[in-house]
Amino acid sequence: MGTCRYCGRSGLFLKTNRSRLCSACNRALAVAVENDKRILDDCQRLIRQSKNPDTRLSRFHDMRRVLQRMQEQYEAKGIEVISPAPSALLTEIAGWRDRIVCDRVQARVDKELDKAAKAKTTKTRGKALEAALSFFDEDDSRATEPTVVAGLHDMRTHVAALIADDSLPIYGYPRSRLMPEGSTSEPGTFRGRHYSEYVAQVEELKRQDKLVQAETLLLELVAATEAESKAQGIGVAPAYYEHLAVIYRKQGRAADEVAVLERYESQPKAPGVGPSRLAERLEKAKTLLARPA
Ligand SMILES: [Zn+2]
Repeated sequence: MGTCRYCGRSGLFLKTNRSRLCSACNRALAVAVENDKRILDDCQRLIRQSKNPDTRLSRFHDMRRVLQRMQEQYEAKGIEVISPAPSALLTEIAGWRDRIVCDRVQARVDKELDKAAKAKTTKTRGKALEAALSFFDEDDSRATEPTVVAGLHDMRTHVAALIADDSLPIYGYPRSRLMPEGSTSEPGTFRGRHYSEYVAQVEELKRQDKLVQAETLLLELVAATEAESKAQGIGVAPAYYEHLAVIYRKQGRAADEVAVLERYESQPKAPGVGPSRLAERLEKAKTLLARPA
């Protein structure tokens, strides 16, 4: 006598297959699972590659919902439909949400900070900063990991300080302080694309004087070139450090300029003209830093 694991029907003549499903359930499940797999793949691709943080967050929620349903519908009944199992995948993706939340808050806050930096009046400046502050209070801006919660809290404090004091220069809040490294992406990539594919975007942000957004992106690209260099032993690409140095010089951030150039000096170098030029730039930046304010 067979009993189908899915519909629970049983009978002397009910045939079940190796997974102990009756033929009707087996057919229906195959179609449903294929559909679920397609949705999961689609979500994962968009979470990795989309530039829109809202899309990434909503796709994360879709993915979690599908996996929870698969867990109840199949895994709980002992039916293996995907490997790794839904419960294992749910554990694996649990940390993704905080990362997406950070990216989302940062992208929105950076836009407002750039507006504030370019504001011609203190009123416009204040309005942009208040908008930035409001993003922290949304439900979709809440993280779960304590370190990320603390990072977001610090970032919020940074924005609040800019509101409290009109005379403070507007800088972004570095990603490295917001969320420790923990990217699962391929070394050398950021959001599913190689770091070298972002050159035009960096140039455009700089051209539009969106320096906060440019800095945030460049810090990711520097991390990507370092990850690739480490994985392949090929040395880092100097351009991204140089872009950051130029931005910091423009903003009068001599200490940050020295720090990014020293970060470059500490890395294995790719062959080319970059190294000596950036070494000279570092000497100049150190002189600027030593100069009394
Ligand atoms: Zn059945």
